[in-house]
Amino acid sequence: MTTTQTYGDVIYNCVACGADKIDFWRQKDYQYTEGSTAKVFHIYRCKSCGTGFLNQPPHRQWLKSIYQYSGQALTQAISLDEVLVREVEFPNCTVDAQRMAQQADELNKSGNYRALDIGSGFGFYTRGLRRLGYRTVSINPGEYENQVFKDLNGDEPLPIMFEDYQSEQKFGVVVMSQVLEHLLEPDVAVAKVVGLLESGGLLACAVPNYASFLVKLLGTRDNACLWVPEHVNYFTKQGLVSLLERNGLRVLKTEQISRVPTNAVSRRLGLKGSLAAVIDAAVGLAQLPFTGLMNVLGLGIYITVYAEKI
Ligand SMILES: [Zn+2]
Repeated sequence: MTTTQTYGDVIYNCVACGADKIDFWRQKDYQYTEGSTAKVFHIYRCKSCGTGFLNQPPHRQWLKSIYQYSGQALTQAISLDEVLVREVEFPNCTVDAQRMAQQADELNKSGNYRALDIGSGFGFYTRGLRRLGYRTVSINPGEYENQVFKDLNGDEPLPIMFEDYQSEQKFGVVVMSQVLEHLLEPDVAVAKVVGLLESGGLLACAVPNYASFLVKLLGTRDNACLWVPEHVNYFTKQGLVSLLERNGLRVLKTEQISRVPTNAVSRRLGLKGSLAAVIDAAVGLAQLPFTGLMNVLGLGIYITVYAEKI
């Protein structure tokens, strides 16, 4: 860590739409570990598509050194059982993974049933694609997630960054869930994805929404989207669509998703047992109309986009 540089190169154009009208928005201080020197990051915003990004971004080697263990802020190994317990409390990635895989399969017109899962995490997307009959290739640098993936799926992902991946074969479906916000030069990654897709093939891609109600309410105190320095890009729907379309994809469908953990309130109040269960149920019921409205207004927490290779 001490030998790693903090900052990468200055950015002059929007990372999503390419426009050169970019402005400083806000700064966010960040402290990687207790006792280390605080680092300051500047968030810039595109005047054209509204997408935000760190400028200067963190240095490539620094990000790599974080991701070799985890892309999800895990500071130690975690077991499949622990992940599944979390899933029962708050079914998030399993539900989203199956739904996204199904959508992608329905929109895949290429006739190619190979799928590439970039940033495969715990492996729920790969499992979802396999259940639909796809042969899969999964890529994920983080060793903590990859151990869980192995317990879930029986094999291991390629433990590399996407930028180091090479393949002669083409894919009918590519999934990038919670990946593009982590990547320096996301346009380079998207161009590479397009090169790996069969014509008529489908990219399913999910990112945190920079225009979400959480960012509007909390500003830089939001850590779902503005998680510095791991998240280097903060997409708006307009920016994400522009990024995909200028690389030769046609956007077929966009969705917004919001979930707040039902135990967010009871946990904060330190409640346990049946009282906690009642509070959790109430939060679950109350959030349906609220998050539904946020999604309709474009203020949802996540944006999902399905795009076809023309
Ligand atoms: Zn832009």
